[in-house]
Amino acid sequence: MKYVSTRGSSPPQTFSEILLGGLAPDGGLYLPESYPKFTETDLAAMRGMNYRELAFTILSRFADDIPAADLRRLIDQTYTAEIYRHVRAGQNPQDITPTLMLEDGFYLLSLSNGPTLAFKDMAMQLLGNLFEYVLAKTGREINILGATSGDTGSSAEYAMRGKKGIRVFMLSPHQRMSRFQTAQMYSLQDPNIFNIAIRGVFDDCQDIVKAVSNDAAFKQQYKIGAVNSINWARVAAQVVYYFKGYFAVTRSNDEQVSFTVPSGNFGNVCAGHIARMMGLPVHKLVVATNENDVLDEFFRTGVYRPRDAAHTYHTSSPSMDISKASNFERFVFDLVGRDAAKVRALWGQVDRGGAADLKVDGYFDRVQDYGFVSGSSCHAMRIQTIRNVYEHYGVVIDPHTADGVTVALRYREHGIPMVVLETALPAKFEDAIQEALGRMPERPVDLVGLEDLPQRFEVMEADAAAVKRFIAEHVCQEARG
Ligand SMILES: *Cc1c(COP(=O)(O)O)cnc(C)c1O
Repeated sequence: MKYVSTRGSSPPQTFSEILLGGLAPDGGLYLPESYPKFTETDLAAMRGMNYRELAFTILSRFADDIPAADLRRLIDQTYTAEIYRHVRAGQNPQDITPTLMLEDGFYLLSLSNGPTLAFKDMAMQLLGNLFEYVLAKTGREINILGATSGDTGSSAEYAMRGKKGIRVFMLSPHQRMSRFQTAQMYSLQDPNIFNIAIRGVFDDCQDIVKAVSNDAAFKQQYKIGAVNSINWARVAAQVVYYFKGYFAVTRSNDEQVSFTVPSGNFGNVCAGHIARMMGLPVHKLVVATNENDVLDEFFRTGVYRPRDAAHTYHTSSPSMDISKASNFERFVFDLVGRDAAKVRALWGQVDRGGAADLKVDGYFDRVQDYGFVSGSSCHAMRIQTIRNVYEHYGVVIDPHTADGVTVALRYREHGIPMVVLETALPAKFEDAIQEALGRMPERPVDLVGLEDLPQRFEVMEADAAAVKRFIAEHVCQEARG
């Protein structure tokens, strides 16, 4: 299996070659040169598999340059009931991603039972083990530099903590994350994790990451890498739970299922698209956005129009507050019939701050062939949905999942199960739950008192040069031993 760039001007690479990288050298995103397909016989065999077997069956098609026995070990080490233990009462942690029936034909797929209570753990935990494996094999090391407003940073740190050959330098806006998120990250005491609290906002953090990454010499000398949402292995790992969810809510492979996905960077729902391309009987893929409705606008109008940071709203489902959807280019590559020249032309406009108009040449008419529909939500709707779901079903959902449920209700069809992906647990977003239900969400017992743990972090000005000095000092210190 080789991976090609959506912009068509980078040489094809293997899974291991693209694992540690980000964008392809031509600025595009990597995708498999063709999607592996599961036949009816394959699907019949997969129906009875547990999560680890399913993950191996799917991921061995993508990561075919990793010896099967090694891949199986990495998967077995990742998807354990111990790591994904924050299940609700009555759910079995052995399921890894259990489903929860709200009513007949309407389900939640619980993806947020990992260490940081958000679905990003599903892929990131595997990434930590894959990185460590590939680095050890080649005798290399990596210094991951990232910026976070909450979920991605903590998920990356909990996946990379204690891993050999890996250090994490994570920038976050000083005193601007929730107390829970702050405590979750800053209480980590592992010597390979460095939390840097920047005096500024999230965009300042992101600008510093860009500035450091644009310094090619520094980047090479200090082996700077990233774990952002365009990483192919993250998308691939997310394909697995669409299969798991499908089998959980159907009895036969003749049935179809629709999925609703609370979306930001289009990584999660892109995995759903790929599952469908691999032969999973998916009816609709419902893209749910919050007030930052770049994606909803596209699926309504055919025009993809990223916003600038100044036009990104800060909402009560903050992990979906994006101005552009970094994985969207992957879907567009398929939509235009994998015509890389077309993608290059369209994204040439996007990269200059413009829009990509997919109405031309009839591309947009084909969106329905891929099952995509969309909708957006807003603060009042998500609060009301949290309330309704609690009143009707006795289940407390987080604000992102609430955006999903809000939009999913517009697309329910008789006889077709609707599965909403639960992308975080309510314990992470206490303010929204307090507003909706007048009380705090329950917290998993092992996280009670999290805010009282000692914290380890460095406060710095929004200054790329200072961050570089910090990285250089800490990388060298260890080298001197
Ligand atoms: C990251 C995140 C999302 C958005 O996922 P994408 O893959 O970026 O579309 C939604 N909900 C939560 C809770 C998240 O952390």
